[in-house]
Amino acid sequence: MKFGGTSVADIDRIRNVARHVKRETDAGHEVAVVVSAMSGTTNRLVEWCREAAPLHDAREYDAIVASGEQVTSGLLAIVLQEMGVNARSWQGWQLPILTSDAHGSARILAVNGDEIVKRFQERKEVAVIAGFQGIHKETGRITTLGRGGSDTSAVAIAAAIKADRCDIYTDVDGVYTTDPRVVPRAHRLDKVAFEEMLELASLGAKVLQVRAVELGAIQQVRIFVRSSFDKPEDIDPNAEPPGTLICFEEEIVEQHLVTGIAFSKDEAQISVRRVQDKPGVAASIFGRLADANINVDMIVQNVSENGATTDLTFTVPEADYARATDVLTKAKSAIGYEKLDGATDVAKVSVIGFGMRSHAGVASEAFKALAEKKINIRAITTSEIKFSILIDAAYTELAVRTLHSLYGLDKASA
Ligand code: ADP
Ligand code: ASP
Ligand code: MG
Repeated sequence: MKFGGTSVADIDRIRNVARHVKRETDAGHEVAVVVSAMSGTTNRLVEWCREAAPLHDAREYDAIVASGEQVTSGLLAIVLQEMGVNARSWQGWQLPILTSDAHGSARILAVNGDEIVKRFQERKEVAVIAGFQGIHKETGRITTLGRGGSDTSAVAIAAAIKADRCDIYTDVDGVYTTDPRVVPRAHRLDKVAFEEMLELASLGAKVLQVRAVELGAIQQVRIFVRSSFDKPEDIDPNAEPPGTLICFEEEIVEQHLVTGIAFSKDEAQISVRRVQDKPGVAASIFGRLADANINVDMIVQNVSENGATTDLTFTVPEADYARATDVLTKAKSAIGYEKLDGATDVAKVSVIGFGMRSHAGVASEAFKALAEKKINIRAITTSEIKFSILIDAAYTELAVRTLHSLYGLDKASA
């Protein structure tokens, strides 16, 4: 059972979470619990690090931001004890949850679940584990898993204790066709395949961290997204609650052309104008960005008319925009281009669905619908089960709503 930030935002909500846990243990289920920091806490801790020094030691950043989960794990253990449930908190380093040393976005390498299982079986002791954090064994330093990382902690714990299911309790009652806060007509999906969820998550749907989905697929953990806001006692612990199961494609009977729409405003566009149209130029540009650890996403290059120069446009995360332009400006003469253009007020809207594998023209319908709304498309990429378009950020909501209706995803009652 994993509870996110809004679900543990104050002591009352933590009590509510404890009642969910108690309902399950009363029903005879063996559970382990993973918690996030109280909502807003991690943002505040990150901000403090930036204020202390814009460029700071990543190991100390982790020591600081991991503290939010330490607090909620202790608080939930206290509240559970008060309700008569035997419980104790575990920090990442105590279990331990071993990770790589990529501070700020560490990968989980190994989790020891034996102690959790043993203690539950021997004395019904519920483990309340601090999400988001782990330890790098060789250096003994605390690490964190990247924003939203408690989801990944939960899936890793579920795999380690061989759980039947990993329930992600959050502030929505499942995975929707798009963010229900932006499109009220979005509807909940009963099941989503790992591959589609991987695309949705990596293209902006923050309901699950990408790595949690990846790990779930590899370790074959059934992930179930559900609401923590339902009254705990109203839920029958032995019935199927409302929510979304992330599972393998074979389990999904009803196939749609489009499953969902994701969007991200954390994008920036860079155009390198009049680069030489010759072998090695792309390598020279993208090699430098890779060396600087900058992820490049959409790439568009024109075939030059005269065989001499062309323009190359691509996107990077908005947070890396300044660094990326800096890298390219410094290497201007080595790369050989005329000038750099860029924009940070852009957004990427992506349409995802297995149906695209076998249906032609899914993307072209979108272009027509967006043109009717006078939304200009800056770049397009496609792959087997998705396509993404880059547009002005101001039109994000309009574009998402337009496509949501176009592909018949609007809730019937709306
Ligand atoms: P938690 O703190 O529980 O981890 P998050 O804020 O990380 O919760 O993720 C839940 C949020 O994800 C929802 O409140 C919702 O606004 C957003 N979201 C984005 N896309 C989707 C989607 N397709 N389905 C459901 N929620 C989505
Ligand atoms: N507290 C962390 C964050 O806000 C991890 C999480 O909530 O999953 O990113
Ligand atoms: Mg989250």
